[in-house]
Amino acid sequence: MDSAEYERKIAFRFAAFDQDGNGYIDRADFSAAAARLLAEFGTTARCDKGQALYTGAEAFWQGMAGIADVDGDQRVTREEFVGGAVKRLRDNPERFAEIARPFLRAAIAVADKDNEGAASVPAVERALKVLGANPETAALAAQNLDANGDGRVAEAEAVTAFAAYFTVIAPDA
Ligand code: CA
Ligand code: CA
Repeated sequence: MDSAEYERKIAFRFAAFDQDGNGYIDRADFSAAAARLLAEFGTTARCDKGQALYTGAEAFWQGMAGIADVDGDQRVTREEFVGGAVKRLRDNPERFAEIARPFLRAAIAVADKDNEGAASVPAVERALKVLGANPETAALAAQNLDANGDGRVAEAEAVTAFAAYFTVIAPDA
């Protein structure tokens, strides 16, 4: 992979976190993601699922900041993301999975309106779109997230896929 392609892949991943598009990742991006998911699925912030999602978003931000906010200004710049998050997450995918897990678990619960213990593939597609994925990418990713092909995405599938997406930057990723 040449450096231009590497930079492009990094840019996509940075943009996925930078939900408000202001050029850095901070707590507001994580709470924005939570708010968008709740709005999409008609869930309030006060209910158990809503509170779990905000708690998970805060934990995810704290974990991200702990890994990548090198200068401690409560913002992760693109340089910090490249130098800290990407390299360290790639070296230690399990760590990434653990900081993301509470958020992913809560997001699946929000998308799982029937409380079946996993989110349907169409619901996951909606979640990815509301978080900024383009429609084609969202549809493909939702299908791929359902690793065992049962039509639903469970926590373990989401954690594994999410960690892989952000930690394994390969030419065809
Ligand atoms: Ca931002
Ligand atoms: Ca910083």
